[in-house]
Amino acid sequence: MKNLETIAIRTQYERTDSSEHSVPLYLTSSYVFEDAEDMRSQFAEEKEGHIYSRYANPNVEEFIEKLRLMEGAEAGWATATGMAAVFSCFAGLLKSGDHIVSSRSVFGSTHKLFTEILPKWGIETTYVDAQDLNGFQSAIRPETKILYAETPSNPALEILDLEAIGAICKKNNILFAIDNCFATPILQRPIELGADIVIHSATKYIDGQGRTLGGAILSSKEVIGQIKGFARHSGPALSPFNAWVLSKSIETLSLRMERHSDNALKIAELLEKHEGVQSVRYPFLASHPNHTLAKKQMSLGGGIVTFEIKGGIEAGKQFLDHLKMFSLTANLGDTRSIATHPASTTHSKLHPEERAEVGITDGLVRLSIGLENWKDIWEDIDQALRFLRPK
Ligand SMILES: *Cc1c(COP(=O)(O)O)cnc(C)c1O
Repeated sequence: MKNLETIAIRTQYERTDSSEHSVPLYLTSSYVFEDAEDMRSQFAEEKEGHIYSRYANPNVEEFIEKLRLMEGAEAGWATATGMAAVFSCFAGLLKSGDHIVSSRSVFGSTHKLFTEILPKWGIETTYVDAQDLNGFQSAIRPETKILYAETPSNPALEILDLEAIGAICKKNNILFAIDNCFATPILQRPIELGADIVIHSATKYIDGQGRTLGGAILSSKEVIGQIKGFARHSGPALSPFNAWVLSKSIETLSLRMERHSDNALKIAELLEKHEGVQSVRYPFLASHPNHTLAKKQMSLGGGIVTFEIKGGIEAGKQFLDHLKMFSLTANLGDTRSIATHPASTTHSKLHPEERAEVGITDGLVRLSIGLENWKDIWEDIDQALRFLRPK
């Protein structure tokens, strides 16, 4: 069993005496012991077992085991949200005085951790532009412990060279962590390309149906051991119910990622030809600045397309108001197509110069292309762009 589609479906928690085909939901907060000696040895970690669902649960174990195998990691840990995974990674591995180097374009809440929360405990972060390989090398200090990045990044869709940065991290003996939320292991396997840690917001494509929050960290036994040491006692545990939902979702992840990517490529190509559109960004378009690299390290381009609408901030808002089918919501990676306008929403608190630094212009629209028929997706975009044309 080595192909991802099969792993995703056939990795199952062992059956109970009821011989169920589908794994049941273990909605239990704690577990009973056979006797006092069994209890002692489990607490002493001499014997494996479940003690309490903040530490371990069969549904959570099944979910993380699937992702562990799919990412090709030695070990994994599941969390309640993607941000709990990001935070647990830093809290478990770093101490006061340590330093992080990060690519500049990162998820909004990760940026808040770097700029407002981690500095409270004396952990500083230096940002580097994703394309600046020398910049990564020169930002590394003796106290640097982790190099962190997203590829493709949100929402700029920058592609970072995993092999080249992995080599820099190895040379400097620091950990290389990748937020693989946009690609999932179906499109990109960072550990094979030199990353030490992979982080997921399972809320996005892994659930893919807009139902639950969830997160995961995949790495070596040693790294996960340290993260577990923090997480077991601070409590960012994934709920058994959400793990049960997510574990089922993973079974269809490969099919969904293929369709998201096919639909997104079609839409990106059509947008590129549209007169109301200034520019389009999609990793598998030949016009993407890192197109060759994207094709090398990803099997398909993923479901996110961004484009620059002619007419700036007002045109961006008007485009959203004219959409009929697209959902206006903060999530992404859903079966339903979603549109957002970062300059007036998620990134509105940044100064225009700060937005420009992370690739967000006033007219930038982010589309999370869903699984509806692409013709209906395009029809909605096309009719909403009509307001731009002179009447
Ligand atoms: C959504 C997201 C997160 C955070 O995940 P939550 O499940 O919302 O906590 C982290 N990184 C990226 C790239 C995301 O898109």
